[in-house]
Amino acid sequence: MLGLPFLVLLFMLATSVAAAVTAVGWRRRRTAPAVGALALLSAAIVVWSAADALAFLVQDAVVGHLLRVTKFIGVCAIPAGFFCLSLAVVDRMWRLSRRTALLLAVEPVLVLVASVTDPWHHLFFLPPDPADPMTLTRPDFGPLFWVHTAYSYLLLSVGVTRLIRAWVRGPRAQRKLYGAILLGAILPAVANIIALWWGDYATDLTPVGFCVTAVVTYWALVHHSLPELIPVARGHVFDMIGDTVATIDASGRVLDLNSAGERLLRRMAYGLPDRIVGLSFEKEFGGLPSADGGETDLALADRDGRRIELNVRSSPLLDSRGGRVGWVMVMRDVTALNRQRRELEQANARLHEQRHELEQANARLHEQLRTIETLRADLAEQAVRDALTGLHNRRHLMEALRREAARAVADRSPLSLALLDVDHFKQVNDGYGHGAGDEVLVRLSGLLTGQARPQDVVARYGGEEFVVVLPGVPGDRARDMVEALRARVAGEPVHVGGHTLHVTFSAGVACLSGGQDPEDLLHAADEALYAAKRGGRDRVELAAAPDGRETAASGHRDSGSSSAAA
Ligand code: GH3
Ligand code: MG
Ligand code: MG
Repeated sequence: MLGLPFLVLLFMLATSVAAAVTAVGWRRRRTAPAVGALALLSAAIVVWSAADALAFLVQDAVVGHLLRVTKFIGVCAIPAGFFCLSLAVVDRMWRLSRRTALLLAVEPVLVLVASVTDPWHHLFFLPPDPADPMTLTRPDFGPLFWVHTAYSYLLLSVGVTRLIRAWVRGPRAQRKLYGAILLGAILPAVANIIALWWGDYATDLTPVGFCVTAVVTYWALVHHSLPELIPVARGHVFDMIGDTVATIDASGRVLDLNSAGERLLRRMAYGLPDRIVGLSFEKEFGGLPSADGGETDLALADRDGRRIELNVRSSPLLDSRGGRVGWVMVMRDVTALNRQRRELEQANARLHEQRHELEQANARLHEQLRTIETLRADLAEQAVRDALTGLHNRRHLMEALRREAARAVADRSPLSLALLDVDHFKQVNDGYGHGAGDEVLVRLSGLLTGQARPQDVVARYGGEEFVVVLPGVPGDRARDMVEALRARVAGEPVHVGGHTLHVTFSAGVACLSGGQDPEDLLHAADEALYAAKRGGRDRVELAAAPDGRETAASGHRDSGSSSAAA
């Protein structure tokens, strides 16, 4: 089929490529078990393809037999290598155990024995056919060969199944790796089936196919195998983290230390040797972690006497019998953190204090505000009260009168007003003294407020003059009410300073008419008062309603001067 020189060259090429993969893979077998398994596979390819290449060049029957025996060592090792490879790429924690290695070695050893002893039983290779000279150097295969082939395919199928399952279910990032190995495995399978089908074992290209599998797998492992990077990444992480990570043995010597730990230790003491691993941890840190690990806080002084606060977490390392062989420790420098925490606590306490002071100040302020409010209300009250009698003063009267007048107009209700003036009051002052006059004014005020209804406004208009505003009361009724008051005052003598005084007053009453304003009303009452005085005093006069006008409420025309004497 294919030219002899070409075949020899092809097998030699496969031999050298597989040898290169074997060499690289073997060196990395400890850090990357998958590459180690690949080295086993490649070594098997080297044996197989080299034996095939040589078989083309040798015509001697004995040498040919030896090469065939050698070749079958490689042939048997390939399924074992592929099986290990499938285990290693799927599970990165996988390591070749002695038991697996022994089990996998059983079949190659049996094949070796069968092929070496073949000239005596011809169960592996059939006896040469004298009719076909080719069978002298390249005999046909016997039943044991087919048993071996079935076993090989079984082992390969287990590996392929494992890879397919991982490809379907495994992590997305690893799928390319599994896919590449599966694709790479197609070529040798096809080559082997063709060779077995046609019985053309001389040009069996299976080892060349497996060489392609090995190269593709190696490429995929380098490009897609995260597990391989993990130990390297872990080393980086170990050195990049800011916490000290140290492993110490049972005697307290440092076995391993990351960069942060090295920096920390060098802060603790001057003149440490270049190599810290091996120093006594106990000496540098003044103690060992507690036997069963745990977490603790340490306060130490650095080489310049500055305080260093450390949070130390330790975990004991135990051997297979449970004996403690050392500790793993993680130490975090919490000096700055603790300082910040203390500052924060102090600031918090100050804040609490300030808040408390603020609350007290606030309470005081509220108290002062209440006092001010009371004082202001007092002042406001004083501003509208007369100091001597406690009655509302004239200012308040005018405001109240304006309000009542507006309401009377709006409600169309009557509003009357009486202006009272003590008769001959000057004589009281002159005869009994100003104090007695004051006393009389106070008594009269008490009487007026005592008789007034809640809605009435009683005010001191000035001197010995008083005003009573009577909302809702028409003029004649108002006059009657004032008249009753007058009669009562006139009938009750006042006792002042050992004297009995007969006090009377005169009053003018007016009722609000349409179009009148409060001043008009006051004026009308004043006129009526004047009339009462003129009429002899101690009497009440009702002001006549202005001509042609109606009172604000009654709406009827007042019938002229209806002054009435008591
Ligand atoms: P009439 O009104 O009957 O015409 O006589 P009268 O004596 O009351 O007249 P007049 O209005 O002139 O006198 C009022 C007096 O009232 C004058 C003033 O000294 C006195 N008087 C005014 N205010 C007070 C006060 O607060 N206390 C005292 N004791 N007297 C006052
Ligand atoms: Mg007067
Ligand atoms: Mg008077």
